Amino acid sequence: MESDLRLLSIHAHPDDEASKGAGTVARYSKEGVRCVLVCCTDGGAGDILNEAMKTPENEDNIVAVRRAELDRSADIIGFHRVAMLGYLDSGMPDMPENKHPDNFANAPLDEAVERLVALIREERPHVLITYSDHQSGYLHPDHLRVNEISIPAFTAAGDPDAYPDAGEPWQPLKMYYSAWSKERIVKTHEKCLEVNGESPFDERFLDRESEDHLITTKIDVQDFWNERCDALLAHATQVDPNESFWFPLPRDIAAAVYPYDDFELAMSTIDTANSDGVVEIEDDLFFGIRGQST
Ligand SMILES: [Zn+2]
Repeated sequence: MESDLRLLSIHAHPDDEASKGAGTVARYSKEGVRCVLVCCTDGGAGDILNEAMKTPENEDNIVAVRRAELDRSADIIGFHRVAMLGYLDSGMPDMPENKHPDNFANAPLDEAVERLVALIREERPHVLITYSDHQSGYLHPDHLRVNEISIPAFTAAGDPDAYPDAGEPWQPLKMYYSAWSKERIVKTHEKCLEVNGESPFDERFLDRESEDHLITTKIDVQDFWNERCDALLAHATQVDPNESFWFPLPRDIAAAVYPYDDFELAMSTIDTANSDGVVEIEDDLFFGIRGQST
């Protein structure tokens, strides 16, 4: 299938593209939408989280290993291009990597925004997917930075006076935040108890404040659960195949228990209200765009 629609996803580290919205990108890629991944950092501060992959070779070459994992994952999901924004992983606040002047969190904001604007102008996406400024307690500096560069880049990309050396202006029409729904966690938890008699989700997850009221858009990804799982497994240094947090249920059951990726429409240049002035829950990131794109 061919489409003239284009989607650009912005992620912080190699593996984030697999854990957030992978099924959605797989679905649109299969439909013929051009899908581009912008990965902001090299993931060099990440530990090897899969014991089976903890070898001296992998530890000494973690950046190259993670880049190869990223390419494999992006291929499985159906991304047409992986563009690196070119920053070092900022690690967490207590790590030495966090002090490095060239890491993503410490680099000048304006420079990072310009790099993203240049990619938006080159790829001319109709829809961007990025991270929110309210991240459910997972306060990784690089994840927060993704939000901090995306907001100005969305507007600046279409502004001919902004970053004149970064290409011809192009205004994306919508920008979404990936959302982690509480409903997903609760339903998965209950199904785990039913099927396995135990659940990897404890109070840290179950007592988390719900942000589900912010969800504007639910994409049905039940048919793309395999892509999500295989993309995660491609990040072999980061994802242990026996890890119940990522793989708590048999695939067919997990795909059905909560068959959506959830998003929050954060910025939009188009009116998506119906004739009664009501904005309904969307089932398509390109709602309001199809049929009138360029
Ligand atoms: Zn990350």
